[in-house]
Amino acid sequence: MARTAESEPTASPSTERLLIMDSRKRLRIHSLLLAWYAGEGRHYLPWRRTRDPYAILVAEIMLQQTQVERVLPKYASFLDRFPTIDVLAEAPTAEVIRAWSGLGYNLRAVRLQEIARQVSEGYASRLPRRLDELIALKGVGRYTAGAIACFAFELPVATVDTNIRRVLWRVFRGIEPALWPGGVREARDLLSLAEWALPEDAYSWQQALMDLGATICLSRRPLCERCPLADSCQAYAETSRLTLFPSGEALAQFRDKREKTGRAVAENAPHYAGAAESPQASQQKRVERVTSAPFTQTSRYFRGRVVEILRRLAPEESLTMAELGPLLRSDFAGDAPSHTAWLVKLVQGLVRDGLVRLLETDAPPESSGEEFWSHIRIGLP
Ligand code: SF4
Repeated sequence: MARTAESEPTASPSTERLLIMDSRKRLRIHSLLLAWYAGEGRHYLPWRRTRDPYAILVAEIMLQQTQVERVLPKYASFLDRFPTIDVLAEAPTAEVIRAWSGLGYNLRAVRLQEIARQVSEGYASRLPRRLDELIALKGVGRYTAGAIACFAFELPVATVDTNIRRVLWRVFRGIEPALWPGGVREARDLLSLAEWALPEDAYSWQQALMDLGATICLSRRPLCERCPLADSCQAYAETSRLTLFPSGEALAQFRDKREKTGRAVAENAPHYAGAAESPQASQQKRVERVTSAPFTQTSRYFRGRVVEILRRLAPEESLTMAELGPLLRSDFAGDAPSHTAWLVKLVQGLVRDGLVRLLETDAPPESSGEEFWSHIRIGLP
């Protein structure tokens, strides 16, 4: 996946001139963005001050669905508690889930430990350098593999997260679609664009794209007026053709008008970036996006609440389902079959994902269904 001269798109004679122009533009954008990054980049971020592959893996997993500001304090304490991949691999899973408190999407804690265990057992506790070996680790998707290859081993490997995708698209292609297509083919196309755009200093380039996307080239309302790339940006040029008063605001309006339903941009992650998720979790998120239920009514919210309640128990403590229900919802009625069925389904999902453990029960061996669950105690794994 490394960008080489051979990775240039093959040009027909009619498009050759355009590609030469594109290559010149690319060089100019490299120099503008890298100069901006040298002065304005977020060099203070702790994961930029290390090349330890394990520390970078931890950062990448934490940053997948949590904002930088929330990750910062947890990152240091997590690495204090689990300073090496072996320490993490050998820790009780409950402890890892406890240390994840405040970051949300607890499944990532379990996945991270699974990765640590695979590396500990299969790679003598050293994360592999090769992209194919990184991707072969269960729980590591193409985005995370590319980030480790580039940010830990400084290999010229392109990777695409939501910020990188948005900036690359706007700069080289124009105003982005109001709704990103989520297919595998589109993800491959974006990766090809990222590979084509990659300069020699891949590390700084990709960090710079992320920083520009996080601070200036914002999703809803980009700050084009402050952008170092405004003169070279395709989206900005397109906006200038459409209005006498180009701005980030105008760009966002043209972008949103493209969607007939008038919905705002959905910044769903590129297809492969979510590879660490279980199919059930992805399906659940899709369903929740479509139904647009308030967050506090979603199963993701209640999954998080169950884990939080269990996290607060002393290590030897556990709960019955009858005790858990009212702690989750004030309107929970233990004698209502629909409420019990809802709770059982919720807990089953958490057990399947390794976030909850069923503890010793005095349920009769032949019991099943409601009777079985009424005897169950649950705790962290
Ligand atoms: S000019 Fe605007 S759209 Fe283009 S990269 Fe800068 S902030 Fe993004």
